[in-house]
Amino acid sequence: MKRVVLASGNAGKLRELAALLTPLGLELLTQGALGIPLPEETGSTFRENALLKARHAAQAAGLPALADDSGLEVDALGGAPGVRSARYAGPGATDAQNLELLLRELAARPGAARGARYQCVIVFLRAADDPAPLVAHGTWEGSIALHGRGSGGFGYDPVFVPAGATCTAAEMAAVDKNRVSHRGQALAALIAMLSAPGYIAAP
Ligand code: IMP
Repeated sequence: MKRVVLASGNAGKLRELAALLTPLGLELLTQGALGIPLPEETGSTFRENALLKARHAAQAAGLPALADDSGLEVDALGGAPGVRSARYAGPGATDAQNLELLLRELAARPGAARGARYQCVIVFLRAADDPAPLVAHGTWEGSIALHGRGSGGFGYDPVFVPAGATCTAAEMAAVDKNRVSHRGQALAALIAMLSAPGYIAAP
């Protein structure tokens, strides 16, 4: 098995990704388990942030690295919260505080269209100086509900209504969300690239 460091301390992400990567001969460990701190997300795009997180982890661990970056874009807010989704209401803000601020900002724009989408970029680097990173992207279109509904998922899911649906992402079963979500789509695209013959060199 080839060891790969995941640029995240999130145990849920590790479980989900490990199940998909083990069949490819990749053993995933989090950078938290290796004692590597997360870098500051200073990029202005999801791609830049995913790349900088992957490079930081690959450099510190001396291993191939996988990183993702994601967020919500709301049309009426000019694409905000975007790359600042996790810290929209300020550094260390909770999901509930971020969601409340989003609803307040939209309430201050009565009649504005509520179109929105989740974006996710996942990056795989064979080494910190890999000149050809694999970059996979997923987009999930939808709109923002007037009030939160549902207790599943996380983040903005209680107010995100996927296009063509009536329920929110927080009212979907996890397995259904993962099949169609921005992260699910990006992951499927990345797995396809990683599975290409000859991509993952023999140990
Ligand atoms: P990241 O961990 O830097 O990628 O930040 C992602 C942030 O975007 C999260 O903290 C959420 O606020 C938001 N986000 C990304 N994906 C989702 C999702 O699937 N559901 C709800 N919120 C999400």
